[in-house]
Amino acid sequence: MAADSSPVATAPVSRETGSASESPVAGAPTPSHVGDSAAAEDALAAVVSRETEQREELASSLPHGDHDTPLARAVAEDARKRIALTGRVFPKPPTTRVLTVANQKGGVGKTTTTVNVAAALAQAGLTVLVIDIDPQGNASTALGIDHHAEVPSIYDVLVEGTPMMDVVQECPDIPGLWCAPATIDLAGAEIELVSLVARETRLQRAITAYLLQAESSDRPTPDYVLIDCPPSLGLLTVNAFVAAQEVFIPIQCEYYALEGLSQLLKNIELIRNHLNPTLHVSTILLTMYDGRTRLSAQVADEVRTHFPEQVLRNTVPRSVRISEAPSHGQTVMTYDPNSSGALSYLGAAAELADRGAAGPVPPPAPAQN
Ligand code: ADP
Ligand code: MG
Repeated sequence: MAADSSPVATAPVSRETGSASESPVAGAPTPSHVGDSAAAEDALAAVVSRETEQREELASSLPHGDHDTPLARAVAEDARKRIALTGRVFPKPPTTRVLTVANQKGGVGKTTTTVNVAAALAQAGLTVLVIDIDPQGNASTALGIDHHAEVPSIYDVLVEGTPMMDVVQECPDIPGLWCAPATIDLAGAEIELVSLVARETRLQRAITAYLLQAESSDRPTPDYVLIDCPPSLGLLTVNAFVAAQEVFIPIQCEYYALEGLSQLLKNIELIRNHLNPTLHVSTILLTMYDGRTRLSAQVADEVRTHFPEQVLRNTVPRSVRISEAPSHGQTVMTYDPNSSGALSYLGAAAELADRGAAGPVPPPAPAQN
C-alpha cells in the first residue's frame, strides 16, 4: 500500500477548546467545558479515556501493507501517531513532577528534548515550566523568550535570590508553557555560587517557593518542571539534581553514546547519597535515531537491555525540521507539527505523561545479581 495515502486529516491542537479542531474521533465531547467539581473531573477522565481508546482502535485499524522500505514504515508509523495523539489531552500528575534533563555530553539533544517535550505537554493541556540553567540560553531561544543581558533571569534567582515568579515569562506561541530564561550572566554563576550559603539548594528553594506562590496567585501551578542543564557537572547541574525528583537522559544513538553514561550515573548516585535521596533516573529517550543504520539499532538495543524500564518506546529520528526550528525561535511542535520529529516528541511526551499519571515514577527495583 502507499503508506502516505492514509485518510488522516491532522489539525494543530487548540488549547482553548482542549481538543484538536478536527478530532479524529467523531462526536467526542470537548473535555474542557466540564466544570471543576470532583464529579466533573471523573466525567472528564472517562471522556478522555474513551477518546483515547477510540483513537487507538482507529490507529490500529489502519491497513498494514508491505512496509518493506524504511520510508514506507516511517510514514505509516507517523500516520498512526497522528491519529492516536494529535489533540489528545494528557493526564495531569497528582503533584508537580520536577525533571532534570541531563547528559554530561554536549550536543546530544538535551535542549531539543527539553523544549519539545515541554511544548508537547503544554499543547496537550498541561502547565509546564522550563528552567534554563545553561549559560548558552539555547532553551530560552528555542522557546522564543527574550533573554538579552538586561532581562531578569535564572542568574538573578540563583545568585541574587530574586523570586522565580519575577523572572518567568510565558512562551509567546504556546499557552501554558512558561520559561525562566538564562542570560549570558549565568556563565559567571558557577564561580559566584561557590561562596554563597546553601549553594547546592538554591534552585530547589526557588522552585518550592514558586510552587507555593503560584498556588496562592492566579499563576497556574506547573504540572511539569523541566530543567535544561549545561553539559558539565558544576554547581549549576548540582543545583538541578538537588531540585528534581527525576532525571531524564537523552541519549544520542551514536558510537560514543554510552561513554560518559556510567560517570553520569555515578554522579547521580553521589547526589542521591548526600544531597537528594529521591533522585533517580526515570526516563531515557533515544534521539537522533537513524533506522537505516545498524549502529543506531545496536546502541538502542544496548541501552534498552541496561535500562528496560526507563527507555521510552518512542525514539526521535535525526530530522532537519527539528534542527531548523530554533532559528525561528520555535519548537518543532509549532514549526512543523506534522513532521516525524514533532510526532516523535509528541509520542515521547505522551509516554512520559501516562507513566506519571498515577504519581511520581518510583525508582526501579535494584538488579539481582
Ligand atoms: P545539547 O543541549 O545536549 O547540547 P542540543 O539539543 O542543543 O544538544 O542539540 C545539538 C544540535 O543537534 C543542535 O543543533 C540541534 O538542533 C541538533 N539536533 C538535536 N536533536 C536533533 C534531531 N533529532 N535531528 C537533527 N538535529 C538535532
Ligand atoms: Mg543544551
